[in-house]
Amino acid sequence: MPTMSDIPFLDLVAPHVELEEELVSVFRTALSRAEFIGGSRVEEFESSFAAFCNTKHSVAVSSGTDALRFALVACGIQAGDVVVTVPHTFIATTEAISQAGAMPEFVDIDERTYNISAEKLQQFLETQCTREKSGKLISLRNGRPVTAVVPVHLYGQMADMDAILELADQYGLIIIEDACQAHGAEYFSKRFERWMKAGSMGKAAAFSFYPGKNLGACGEAGAVTTSDDVVAQQIRMLRDHGQSRKYHHGIEGYNGRLDAIQAGILQVKLRFLAEWNRQRRDAAVRYHELFDGRGLECTLPCEPSWSRSVYHLYVIRTAERKKLQEHLANSGVGTGIHYPIPLHLQDAYRSAGYKQGDFPVAECAAEEVLSLPMFPGLTAMQQKRVVEEVVRFDGVADSALSTELAARA
Ligand SMILES: *Cc1c(COP(=O)(O)O)cnc(C)c1O
Repeated sequence: MPTMSDIPFLDLVAPHVELEEELVSVFRTALSRAEFIGGSRVEEFESSFAAFCNTKHSVAVSSGTDALRFALVACGIQAGDVVVTVPHTFIATTEAISQAGAMPEFVDIDERTYNISAEKLQQFLETQCTREKSGKLISLRNGRPVTAVVPVHLYGQMADMDAILELADQYGLIIIEDACQAHGAEYFSKRFERWMKAGSMGKAAAFSFYPGKNLGACGEAGAVTTSDDVVAQQIRMLRDHGQSRKYHHGIEGYNGRLDAIQAGILQVKLRFLAEWNRQRRDAAVRYHELFDGRGLECTLPCEPSWSRSVYHLYVIRTAERKKLQEHLANSGVGTGIHYPIPLHLQDAYRSAGYKQGDFPVAECAAEEVLSLPMFPGLTAMQQKRVVEEVVRFDGVADSALSTELAARA
């Protein structure tokens, strides 16, 4: 039975109750104008979100998965191409690659940030690929052309984009960011000598507005950001049955539009995104301070000096994950696991022929990561309780271990 002192993993109710009047009025306006698909609401949101991301365009679509699929297609990824990404992400990343007609191939992640390792990417390009006489980069695994990389900005923190862009230049690869967890995250680029927003560094980027994301709709929604006019125009066609004018179909597209009600809701909530992200960052600092000096076995999130994470998730890691999660559940603290099985070991990708041991860092992370409560409005009191419970568990685990060691000795 949940009690008042329970701390949820995520509180989606409070922000919606707070904004109820404004959100309901979005629906009323849509009803009174019978404006449900497309229209000025969608365009307003698109220009606001592009401004937020420091890009020339944002094109609103029906989900983050569609955003990534459309971005890949619009950037020229062809059927049969290989697109490189990480095994430590949500499956939508690779679903979008497959749905674009391409084939995902994996490189391992960085142990500290959980994002794609630029070093491993370089190794992959140097040792698992070959260049044809034409200059085409070919995967030795399957003989297909390698044309793009999808870095995932996992947990709200951007991947090391300078290093990735440099490799992309060197190997002629297209970079498409999976920014579905990173609305507002920033990266200090030495290349451009300034802080850059998630979604503004690749040729295009995908965002999700699934309700639990840092900016969430009251339903399904997503967007592509890009500063490339041609790519933006192509995505506008792809989301709308390939038409640029009614019943004039330049290409075959999809039904992938954003509806006007979700656009209106997102426009209301976008006003609060920077403040909500600030609250998440403050909460992360508080967790760090509360954990500091407690001598825990757990590893805390690592934010390099070039990163300003928006803490979509606050993820710790411990070899005792299962027991810690149980202990926290019994103490009324909600947690999550993002994600328990790396993609290369999922049944869905069995035919790709990967095996245990292929990506050891991702495999280890999948065993050990645990997401603690993190949302705007999480109070210092609640965080203190979460940390006390983690510390208490750690103490119990320690004494259990010393008893075990003593028994063995
Ligand atoms: C949420 C998410 C997606 C997919 O977004 P949807 O809107 O659910 O389709 C893709 N990639 C990552 C990393 C995500 O977290």
